[in-house]
Amino acid sequence: MGSMPPVVWSEDVLRHEPGAEIWVGVRTPGTEVPDRARVLLAAVTAAGAEVLRAQPHDDSILRAVHDPGMLHHLATVADDWAAGEYLALVGQDRVVPYFFPTAGMLDGLPATPPAATHARAGMWCYDTMTLVGPGTWEAARAAVDVALTAADLVAAGTPATYALVRPPGHHATRRAFGGSCYLNNAAVAAEALRAHGHDRVAVIDIDAHHGNGTQAVFWQRPDVFYGSLHVDPGAGWFPHVVGHATEMGEGDGAGATYNRPLPPGTADDDWLAALADVCDRARGAQAMVVSLGVDAAGADPESPLEVSTEGFRRAGEILAGLGLPTVLVHEGGYDLTRLGPDTVAVLSAFGS
Ligand SMILES: [Zn+2]
Repeated sequence: MGSMPPVVWSEDVLRHEPGAEIWVGVRTPGTEVPDRARVLLAAVTAAGAEVLRAQPHDDSILRAVHDPGMLHHLATVADDWAAGEYLALVGQDRVVPYFFPTAGMLDGLPATPPAATHARAGMWCYDTMTLVGPGTWEAARAAVDVALTAADLVAAGTPATYALVRPPGHHATRRAFGGSCYLNNAAVAAEALRAHGHDRVAVIDIDAHHGNGTQAVFWQRPDVFYGSLHVDPGAGWFPHVVGHATEMGEGDGAGATYNRPLPPGTADDDWLAALADVCDRARGAQAMVVSLGVDAAGADPESPLEVSTEGFRRAGEILAGLGLPTVLVHEGGYDLTRLGPDTVAVLSAFGS
């Protein structure tokens, strides 16, 4: 005991079963599975962490991050889909969009909300990888309660907490979900720390992928810094069109975004140097949210970065070395053998 920060948890995060991902038109097995959370819970428990139950919260902070229309969509579309005979018609039991009313399609025309559920399916998401089924909303909303409870504890004086959540969140923007993410748990935690009186909050994102959703939420905000190191989207990796070094915020938020895209194959030393650089840019923050993805692990099927468990341990030391009140929010990590050890390696630097 004492070598790990307190862990916040809800059984309800297990309720989302992606079932599949549709990639280049092909149905493939989903990798963002409930077993990820079971593995993490077993690992932090074995490491001696205290596990605390998430408390229910209202939608006030959540609505500061996401459009209420998107929240309503996610809360209702699985039931509407189930009532729409898609299973009987074509054997499809998950909400899968086929139609995206993009800015290019509308070209300035006003859009009327669609009558068909299969058209509505594409109104609030941007890929075909992030399916909605029974339990998706309940799990995503539970993850938000976990993040908010973890932020409450830090606001009350706990030096650091770990929000053990799935589905992950950093690809979810204000008005669209995607990239296996539905609700942006890290952005919610940052907003909660702001609401608790921390005037300047840093979000440091060590997931292997750029957190386009978090960057978008805070793009024009000077009070929340977003810094990320990730595999270079320019090398062909998700989220493809954003996450480049030239993106540094806009308007009042100019200078409060910082990206360190890294080439495929990047291993410990270069990855840790990039992390130290990102942390330098976060100076002046009064509290921190870590988007804790561990898919930069060498064996991870979702990224070509090559970070070792020892690298994650050193990353924890760099992050904890900032000495800030910290909420660590889980993001990616899809190799079930590395997920537990790598996460504990980061967290162990935050034990009291
Ligand atoms: Zn990732």
